[in-house]
Amino acid sequence: MLSTMQDVPLTVTRILTHGMTIHGRSQVTTWTGEPEPHRRSFAEIGGRAAQLANALRDELGVDGDQRVATLCWNNAEHVEAYLAIPSMGAVLHTLNLRLPAEQLAWIVNHADDKVVIANGSLLPLLVPLLPHLPSIEHVVVSGPGDRSGLSGIAPRVHEYEELLAGRPTTYDWPELDERQAAAMCYTSGTTGDPKGVVYSHRSIYLHSMQVNMTESMGLTDRDTTLMVVPQFHVNAWGLPHAAFMTGVNMLMPDRFLQPAPLADMIEREKPTHAAAVPTIWHGLLAEVTANPRDLSSLANVTIGGAACPPSLMEAYDKLGVRLCHAWGMTETSPLGTMANPPAGLSEEEQWPYRITQGRFPAGVEARLAGTAGEHLPWDGTSAGELEVRGPWIAGAYYGGPGGDLRPEDKFTEDGWLKTGDVGVISADGFLTLTDRAKDVIKSGGEWISSVDLENALMAHPDVAEAAVVAVPDEKWGERPLATVVLKEGATADYAALREFLAQSVARWQLPERWSVIPAVPKTSVGKFDKKVIRRQYADGELDVTQL
Ligand code: AMP
Repeated sequence: MLSTMQDVPLTVTRILTHGMTIHGRSQVTTWTGEPEPHRRSFAEIGGRAAQLANALRDELGVDGDQRVATLCWNNAEHVEAYLAIPSMGAVLHTLNLRLPAEQLAWIVNHADDKVVIANGSLLPLLVPLLPHLPSIEHVVVSGPGDRSGLSGIAPRVHEYEELLAGRPTTYDWPELDERQAAAMCYTSGTTGDPKGVVYSHRSIYLHSMQVNMTESMGLTDRDTTLMVVPQFHVNAWGLPHAAFMTGVNMLMPDRFLQPAPLADMIEREKPTHAAAVPTIWHGLLAEVTANPRDLSSLANVTIGGAACPPSLMEAYDKLGVRLCHAWGMTETSPLGTMANPPAGLSEEEQWPYRITQGRFPAGVEARLAGTAGEHLPWDGTSAGELEVRGPWIAGAYYGGPGGDLRPEDKFTEDGWLKTGDVGVISADGFLTLTDRAKDVIKSGGEWISSVDLENALMAHPDVAEAAVVAVPDEKWGERPLATVVLKEGATADYAALREFLAQSVARWQLPERWSVIPAVPKTSVGKFDKKVIRRQYADGELDVTQL
């Protein structure tokens, strides 16, 4: 028998109308580089989202599920686009402004974007691309930046503020199917073509509820979140939608993502929460060590996107800032796990839980697959590839008009997502990742975790960052190469570093090959780009010392 409950679609429109009315006084504050940041209330954002939707429909002719792209920093206008575009039934396509030009063009063409909303400061990136983007009919420009490159281009050009001015602040939002596409984001794909993940209204709605749960980020209208994670990377980890659900104030860094302005923002605006990848937290730590600022408002920080070294957590503990480790992927919306320890434990007892990737929330089912595809027990020691499923986890990639793509290496026959991440799960459901499947070091038939070696190295006082990769070895098949970024003023003493490592990993795992590098190469979303290091090694570009 069916239930007697109402069947109300879970849509972004409902998130928008709820946030702008019930939490109308909450604010989006955007850093401008001027003495005063820019502030806009959720009520104003809601009215302007309606104006944007009116303009997109009436002036630009956006109709049905056409794709409207954004090439923007994190700011109030980007939040307006986030809410307006899906609510009118179109699809928001966030473009990663750090991708190489050819990849960006490939993605726009693949998604068949009709409109692009761009920040003025990003026009130098967009304008040269436009001749290669035949589907783009309109360019909408917002915020400061030189417009001169736009004269004589094929698409029609609009000023964002002029487009909105005088339009109604209400919109007759259509009742949408909750399974309909709301937004899309292409994976930063290190191999092959980028893959489009398409989020539904329903997946965004359910994911936002989970983000706000106390056992996840636990945010309310008493919080302000410093959203460093870009809105072009997995919907800023779902935060703009989650914030509109519970009235969380948003502090947006716009293009001021360097450690010094971030430290200024925290000291001045006192956010209670922040979300960013470890690279940002490393940079900020170096900044406040050199020029102290008060970061203590940050009671609760979500750190993920790459493994968080325990040493970084300890360093922030000392500043009164608590980092909470999370794991996720573009394909998982992204919230997959969060490392909030079980209740009733002392600080000391919490530590072993905090340094894991965390446990799975309701809505994310997980299993571990062995090399023959068998399912492994959750015993804290059996390592396998993590597979997940759930209502905010991708079941396919966008394939354009030809239909969805379900590559065998990404989806199992019974529909689970193969994450490509290798790890163990404890009996109480805490996940510890040891590597990406492709980064595991296979030495003489045994696996060495590059992440374990990196975490141990980054705990050394002379080491700012460390990345360990597998390199070919005649005797063992593969061995670890340790590349190290030293702190200012430190000198390389490889034998000492090796001995330091020996305190936490087995001797047979200790790297023989060492190299000091100026910086760890990073991907477009700030993760270690190990394929670049492997290539540099293969091409003889690294100065390697063999112990
Ligand atoms: P992306 O889709 O670009 O966000 O990349 C997702 C990948 O980032 C995951 O499959 C992991 O390999 C990695 N990742 C994300 N969070 C973590 C974490 N907390 N620890 C280790 N790796 C992570």
